[in-house]
Amino acid sequence: MYHSIAWRLQISYGLLLIAAFVGLGITSYHLERSSQLSSIDTGLQMRGTRVTGALYRMRLPLTVPKGAELDLPRHDALFTPPDEFPFYYRIWNNEQEILLRSNTGPDEIPFPQVGEKTPDDGLVRNRNDFRERIYRTPRGFIAMVGRNASTEFATIRSQTAKLAGAGLIILIAGLLLSHYLAKRTLKPIADISDAAKRIADGALDERIETQGNQSELGQLGEVLNNTFDELEGAYRRQEQFTADASHELRTPVTVILTEIQSAPPLSRSPDEYEECLKVCEESAISMQRLLQQLATLAQFDSGKVELNSQTLNLKELAEATIEQFRPVASDSGITVTSQLANESCQGDPDRLSQVLTNFLMNAVAYNQDGGTISVSVERENKDVLLKVSDTGIGIEDEDLPHLFERFYRADKSRFGSDENSGLGLAICKEIAEAHGGQITVESELEKGSTFILRIPC
Ligand code: ADP
Repeated sequence: MYHSIAWRLQISYGLLLIAAFVGLGITSYHLERSSQLSSIDTGLQMRGTRVTGALYRMRLPLTVPKGAELDLPRHDALFTPPDEFPFYYRIWNNEQEILLRSNTGPDEIPFPQVGEKTPDDGLVRNRNDFRERIYRTPRGFIAMVGRNASTEFATIRSQTAKLAGAGLIILIAGLLLSHYLAKRTLKPIADISDAAKRIADGALDERIETQGNQSELGQLGEVLNNTFDELEGAYRRQEQFTADASHELRTPVTVILTEIQSAPPLSRSPDEYEECLKVCEESAISMQRLLQQLATLAQFDSGKVELNSQTLNLKELAEATIEQFRPVASDSGITVTSQLANESCQGDPDRLSQVLTNFLMNAVAYNQDGGTISVSVERENKDVLLKVSDTGIGIEDEDLPHLFERFYRADKSRFGSDENSGLGLAICKEIAEAHGGQITVESELEKGSTFILRIPC
């Protein structure tokens, strides 16, 4: 608990408050005290001057023996009671005996022990309820002028008590307020950690409540929410990807198992064996293709793909790929035409050929019987475009944004077929982006589609 920011803030606030109140308290105590005592001190000073002046005028002998008869003024000669009450004075000789005293003041006043030197205007002291000013005259007499200051001292004490009480109340109120403020200020942090904890516990759609909070912490909450969105999206895609991949692998594995388990091995004829092995081989090839595609995507995901980049002539690359592909097209009764500009760019020939092959394979797979495929290489400003158009089934508008997602198939009728895994275009997109380019699609249902690879030169 004591490591929490709220508590540290609280303690800092508390210490600051205490320091402020102690400072204020000491200052106001001194101000109050000096205002209460200043009129007493002025009176004492006035009377002290009168008493010491009178002592000089009395021409007392240097030492006054005990009990000596001196021609001294009356006790109240220096002050005139009762007006002077509550002031009093005492004068001691060198023998510490009282020589003169007013008939006011306390009965017993101990001899003031003062040093050899006292200031000319006397030494001030507080004794019980009395405030006294003590003078040492040049002949060694000690004169004291005092006054009962019990009322003033009581006022100072009560003011100090009031001040301390008020200070304590304000301190407690301040601490409570600062506790509330610290809690309130740090609530967004508590919300953030609660939300993060819930997300860590598996509630991936949990978010931090940031509505109406424009503070830095509110902004931090927004940033974290966006990060959580990204992470959740990535996690969901990964989840979907794993589910799709295992689903895709399940089909060929099931085929192989079924073939092997369906009939007792010895009861099959050689032709049936051959057929069984053929089916198993096709399934194995399908699995191999899928695993290769998954491995390629994993390489792109981890950023481990290194392009064998070189200057290449796209016309030559397209011609070579089309030639390899022509038998596949003619098997399906599809004509391939081309219009190839003599354009060059930097790129990985194998990867770019893979993209073109994928376009061509799809153009055959989704074409009409006896359809055509036209391939072109052309330049547009600083880009080279490689286009493959077909006269096939076309693609619905709602499918277009998803074509490059992994395992997405627009044509659901082919779902589960060995050839079409729905990964081809996702890989093409990765290759295009690795070249700093992109792929776009234009399509019209029942009329055909055009896939365009755009590479910057
Ligand atoms: P697949 O292996 O299923 O062809 P792709 O990633 O290459 O996977 O393509 C994704 C989906 O896009 C295909 O399943 C298909 O529905 C659609 N598609 C791709 N090319 C074409 C095309 N030329 N004409 C119509 N649909 C196409």
